[in-house]
Amino acid sequence: MASLAAKHPGENEYLQAVEEVMTSIEEIYNQHPEFEAAKIAERIVEPDRIFTFRVAWVDDKGQVQVNLGYRVQYNNAIGPYKGGLRFHPSVNLSILKFLGFEQMFKNALTTLPMGGGKGGSDFAPKGKSDAEVMRFCQAFMTELWRYIGPETDVPAGDIGVGGREVGYLYGMYRKLARENTGVITGKGMTYGGSLIRPEATGFGGIYFLNQMLEQLGSDIKGKTIAVSGFGNVAWGAAKKATELGGKVVTISGPDGYIHDPNGLTPEKIEYMLELRATNNDIVSPYEAEFPGSKFYPNQKPWCVPVDIALPCATQNELNGDDAEMLVKNGVRVVAEISNMGCTPDAIETFLHAKVLYGPGKAVNAGGVATSGLEMTQNSMKLNWTAEEVDAKLHQIMSSIHNACVEYGTEADGYINYMKGANIAGFMKVAKSMVEQGV
Ligand code: GLU
Repeated sequence: MASLAAKHPGENEYLQAVEEVMTSIEEIYNQHPEFEAAKIAERIVEPDRIFTFRVAWVDDKGQVQVNLGYRVQYNNAIGPYKGGLRFHPSVNLSILKFLGFEQMFKNALTTLPMGGGKGGSDFAPKGKSDAEVMRFCQAFMTELWRYIGPETDVPAGDIGVGGREVGYLYGMYRKLARENTGVITGKGMTYGGSLIRPEATGFGGIYFLNQMLEQLGSDIKGKTIAVSGFGNVAWGAAKKATELGGKVVTISGPDGYIHDPNGLTPEKIEYMLELRATNNDIVSPYEAEFPGSKFYPNQKPWCVPVDIALPCATQNELNGDDAEMLVKNGVRVVAEISNMGCTPDAIETFLHAKVLYGPGKAVNAGGVATSGLEMTQNSMKLNWTAEEVDAKLHQIMSSIHNACVEYGTEADGYINYMKGANIAGFMKVAKSMVEQGV
């Protein structure tokens, strides 16, 4: 690790993700001399390659804007590179490398043949007009298209890239590549998208949460749930949790969080969706709309006493202090639906307190898994019904849960999901790399 840190100074998120996985797998790695003989530990932490490009576009005032674009092709030992594009001002190589590294193991866990990749830009869609977003996406794809393809690298959405952006990206890709067999997933339903894909990350997360609760002899009915964020992921999670009888009492945005002790309802969720459709991710207007709720500016929702916490916003959004507060208030399960939502300190606190903690690479894998199902439908040139896709998503989440239990159950019966997910994902990629030679 020290030499990796020296080679990649300042890439904190990437080093954090690597450290977590490599610590979890150390024991099992040492039982496999073929891994060390093939130098898997050294190879797996570095992406196969990284593309960086300049994206110049013209804003509504006629002024030229310049952003950076990236695609990190992490590892394709088990299938084409697969992973989303993030458009957010915070995007840099450290963040995309951490996301690509996580994606490689997450995709391995889904049971589908997908390698890991990630990409994006420091462009912020928030506050931009529709025409500006379109021009940016077209300019971005003018560079990206040469590195991707339906059998080589298949991007999708992530923070800042939803259905609208995917549409503009895909529109430009098919003009440049002169093929339209489905290189991006998360497409619209009229041009090759899959039913359930928009909800899949959140839905899959709740299916996984249900199985975690089952381990405690419990279920989601009547449980209080803190959700952070209100993007695509949080929306899907809140919708499914509410549908199954859970009581979601918080949502959040960059402006602060809402505490609604009465819980979300389909009507309230619909209201939030309408608010978001105005290209706004703030949550404060909720307070005036729904009496009994309260808005807490510039704070995170983790101080609200709940049974279940679901980080759904971004990396490192729940720190050691937040974790201590949740544990003190009696939280029973924490399931990350964001990627690396908890800091190492927070994870340590949950594991120490024997609170069940589900890491993002297992809990949020339903999104990319359904992307894999979209790729299958595109290859077959047919569409499955929502019920068919949902049944497959259920199956995949169960199999990820089983893998975590197999590799993560400790001597006292406590399930260390972080260890289980890291080992199960790593074993699959490492074995594929060994079998395919150097
Ligand atoms: N961005 C999502 C993730 O973090 C989805 C990726 C995909 O569908 O390719 O897994």
